[in-house]
Amino acid sequence: MAAETQKTTPMMEQFFSIKKEYPNALLFYRMGDFYELFFEDAIKASDALNITLTTRGKHLEQAIPMCGVPAHSADNYLLSLIKQGFKVAICEQMESPSDAKKRGYKAIVNRDVVRLVTPGTLTEETLLNAREYNFLSAFSEIRGSCALAWVDISTGDFHVKSFKKSHLGDLLSRLAPKEILVSESSKESLLEKLFDLKPTITPLANLMFESSSANRRLINFYNVNTLEGFGNFNRVEMSVLSAILEYLNLTQKGILPILKTPIREPREGSLNIDSFTRKNLELTLSLSGEKAGSLLNIINKTVTAAGARMLESRLSNPSTNIELIKNRQDDVQYFVDHNKLRKNTQKNLSHILDIERGLMRLSLNRSNPRDLKAISNGLIYSEKIFKEINSVKEANFLSFNTNSLSGHNAIIDTIENALIDNPPTNFKEGGFIKPGFDSALDNERKLRDDGKKLLTELQINLSERCKIPTLKIKFNNVLGFFIEVSARHSKHMLSPPHNELFIHRQTTANSIRFTTNELTEAESKILNAENKAIERESYIFEQIQKEILKNAKEILVTAKSISEIDVICSLSSTADAKNWCKPRVDKTTSFEIIGGRHPVVESSLQENTKHNFIPNNCNLTCDKDTANIWLITGPNMAGKSTFLRQNAILVVLAQMGSFVPASSAHIGIVTKLFSRVGASDDLARGHSTFMVEMVETAAILNQADERSLVILDEIGRGTATHDGLSIAWATLEHLHEQNRCRALFATHYHELASLSKKLNGITNATVSIKEFKEEIIFLYEVVLGFVDRSYGVQVAKLAGMPRSVLMRANQVLSALNSTDQKNTPNTIKTLETLPLFEQSMANTQLTKKTTSEIETQLENTDPDGMTPKEALDLIYKLKEMILTYPGIEETPT
Ligand code: ATP
Repeated sequence: MAAETQKTTPMMEQFFSIKKEYPNALLFYRMGDFYELFFEDAIKASDALNITLTTRGKHLEQAIPMCGVPAHSADNYLLSLIKQGFKVAICEQMESPSDAKKRGYKAIVNRDVVRLVTPGTLTEETLLNAREYNFLSAFSEIRGSCALAWVDISTGDFHVKSFKKSHLGDLLSRLAPKEILVSESSKESLLEKLFDLKPTITPLANLMFESSSANRRLINFYNVNTLEGFGNFNRVEMSVLSAILEYLNLTQKGILPILKTPIREPREGSLNIDSFTRKNLELTLSLSGEKAGSLLNIINKTVTAAGARMLESRLSNPSTNIELIKNRQDDVQYFVDHNKLRKNTQKNLSHILDIERGLMRLSLNRSNPRDLKAISNGLIYSEKIFKEINSVKEANFLSFNTNSLSGHNAIIDTIENALIDNPPTNFKEGGFIKPGFDSALDNERKLRDDGKKLLTELQINLSERCKIPTLKIKFNNVLGFFIEVSARHSKHMLSPPHNELFIHRQTTANSIRFTTNELTEAESKILNAENKAIERESYIFEQIQKEILKNAKEILVTAKSISEIDVICSLSSTADAKNWCKPRVDKTTSFEIIGGRHPVVESSLQENTKHNFIPNNCNLTCDKDTANIWLITGPNMAGKSTFLRQNAILVVLAQMGSFVPASSAHIGIVTKLFSRVGASDDLARGHSTFMVEMVETAAILNQADERSLVILDEIGRGTATHDGLSIAWATLEHLHEQNRCRALFATHYHELASLSKKLNGITNATVSIKEFKEEIIFLYEVVLGFVDRSYGVQVAKLAGMPRSVLMRANQVLSALNSTDQKNTPNTIKTLETLPLFEQSMANTQLTKKTTSEIETQLENTDPDGMTPKEALDLIYKLKEMILTYPGIEETPT
């Protein structure tokens, strides 16, 4: 802020002194019912929010730019600013104007920043996506060791992980944090790993990452004597955990959320999915960045928001722990077998609101009566689920302890006895505590209501006395209670004898407003009682809050179990409805899928076409240290990419603990999953299509091992034919000889098929089609063997390419096929001697001729005089004429 503080009004002085502390945030400066912004903040905010920029007074002889947003609807504006990458410092009035006046007539209201709102520290329902985590993370690197901590302060989840620096991008793409804290010194190494993520990057002083004081910070935060019970955190992990706590302290101004104890995620233990693979397989978002069309969208049958968050995090991070996977699968099986129980459980779940987020708002003093009700309601339905599950004999079959779903009767009673059924969201207006719960509150309410009765009587009395039936006693925030009559009647009140009783307050366009001594007295009684009632309700609210917070840890455990049940029921519903099977997962290097399907393509075919998805088998089972690679050739559009992706998706589903779309599946645990499918460029990072392809392939070849599954689709397509073929050839050999992994490799380089003769671990497979006349019919069946044609021109015809282009393409293709293509000069010569395009256009006359032959045939036909048999024969004949259209000739191979 360039403006100086000299010759400023006291208010501007206060503004400058607060703003100085928050140079990188917009300052929402509370003035009555508005948050006002000044100077550059106002210019930025008015532009970002599309609101009017005005001015207020002058500073250094220049008008002060100003804009404002109403306090009651500030959340919407905040959301918009946060989404646009701003941080907002909320500066509140810390006392009432009347309290300020006690210090002197000119004293201004004390103000202070109560919270710095940043993308990673949101807690309000209106600012968050209910079904997604909102992670704040911190990254640090100390002498080559890297760690990332991530926390969602709206749910209390807190994690930390050490990893190799090369995995930073993969971890970030899994978590998609909204804000990343980074020390000044490690900012650069982070920037290049952010890919498509667009988090806010918040650089912090190196001091905030100081690992030596981290121990004390954590001990203080968790109020424990030692961190031993939390597990052993190394130096760099301590550094990031500490940075998160420091930042929360800074942004939440000392009121900290009740975070769960940090969980250290082991280096091994989950399926490594790099960011390219995650994107290519469309696990949580489709390639166009939407939820529709993603795998998550297909499997998500969760009923609660917290369940949806847990499902997404499982899908994003499948396990490699066989025992854990089996337990999860058994849980799914249990609810598949107990269909009725599952449906009842889901019905109960549908009543449960977000307990975790309600509880976190409570700990931050940002909750409202509805949050309390959501907690008790959630606990009531959790108890119901517990009873229902335990009414079935084999309940203890579930892998987790269902007892945590029960046992909150005391808290439920406290909330239910105190709160009305549908409490308001704003507790400042009161009215949410049940009558009869607290005698002091009942007393104040009675005084307030008696006062209101008094007003009714006063209105009747005055109206009769003045003979003005339309006389009304009304209320507004400026005047308080007042008597209102129309302008016509006002004369009457301003003349004797009434002028002694009525005191004029305000004249509006159509009415005149008065008060009387009696009304002023009644008003002070009512307002007094009303304020006292509201104060008392706030007090009761706080007491209940404290009571809940004492049980926060246990309530969070229950909330987690509810999400767990929701996820299991969701996976069971999907498995049941879609006829998925329980895969066998073990430590072998098997990969045998019978009748596998691609869940997203299958669902899209069901919705949009009458065609069924054709299931396919795949067997990549091999011995440890040997490779098994299927090389898949086949026409365009035959289903190669779909087949590749479906097998990768089966691994993700199996290892997250889900059933899979297949009749049977045996998957030896996969620790790294790689997929390079389709072509895209990344111009923003200066990478062409071919460069992106090579970067992704290089990453795979450098990292894949015998426990990896690799999916490669059309490697080497973005360059000249011979270069591409050579790269594809060498890649395939490398996968076989060096990586020795299980892999699927789809290609249009038919020459690669010959490698299966040399390398034992390569099996040729193809997707079958049927040829009928000049048409191809896709059968989508993957069979062993290979084809040496891609049918590109036929597929182009299906795509609606102009006939002339198809004709010309066929000409070129036959010319090329008749030469030795390995010999480039020969090929060039052949192409040079091809007749010109215009000449080939002469052939299009044939088309016209064919068309006119058809027309002549039709003109000479008398439909009414034909027998059905003759009509049918004619249709066959016409079809024959169209099919023999010379644009699509059989291409010699
Ligand atoms: P290209 O070589 O041109 O990239 P492709 O062989 O990789 O093509 P896909 O993209 O996998 O072909 O599939 C094309 C379309 O075929 C899909 O969008 C889908 O509609 C359909 N399809 C693929 N597999 C099957 C299947 N098993 N059953 C039914 N339809 C399928």
